[in-house]
Amino acid sequence: MRINVSHQLKASIGSIRNYEVSGIVNVAGGKSMVQGEVKLMRTDRSILAKGTLHTEVEVTCSRCLGLFSCPLTLNIEEEYFPITDVVSGASLPLPEEPGCFTIDEHHVIDLTEAIRQYALLAIPMKPLCRGDCAGLCPNCGHNLSQGPCDCSPQETEPRWSELSKCLSTSPPSLDK
Ligand SMILES: [Zn+2]
Ligand SMILES: [Zn+2]
Repeated sequence: MRINVSHQLKASIGSIRNYEVSGIVNVAGGKSMVQGEVKLMRTDRSILAKGTLHTEVEVTCSRCLGLFSCPLTLNIEEEYFPITDVVSGASLPLPEEPGCFTIDEHHVIDLTEAIRQYALLAIPMKPLCRGDCAGLCPNCGHNLSQGPCDCSPQETEPRWSELSKCLSTSPPSLDK
């Protein structure tokens, strides 16, 4: 995920280079393969990295608590600021923006940290292994996506309907 941009730092403003991204990034405690393409554009003050990357992270389903691989699409757009002038080798002042990414003294951009941050933000707050995940039985903890359990609603429903029938047909009792 390290790209040498020394040539591009010397290029004119607006020049674009496409870069194929393919590598492993540590996201949320697991290693994720990241693939895609970023455009690196020379701006008047930086190199702008922009592109769409694809990865998958292993997360826990919020309903059934099962681990599953969650595909993520990362729309990266980050500026990388040089800290060393590519021609003179002189140190450059850092931009005021806090937490901005920099191009190191060897004129190398490292996309790893940006990808990691974007991936963390892309993970859903309540991940679902599938849209219709049935979750766990609140009674016995059985994973209902793998079939009903002994205390599943299919068994309790008839009892309830009988009870409601009984309630609706019984005449109102008048105490005298
Ligand atoms: Zn699930
Ligand atoms: Zn159950």
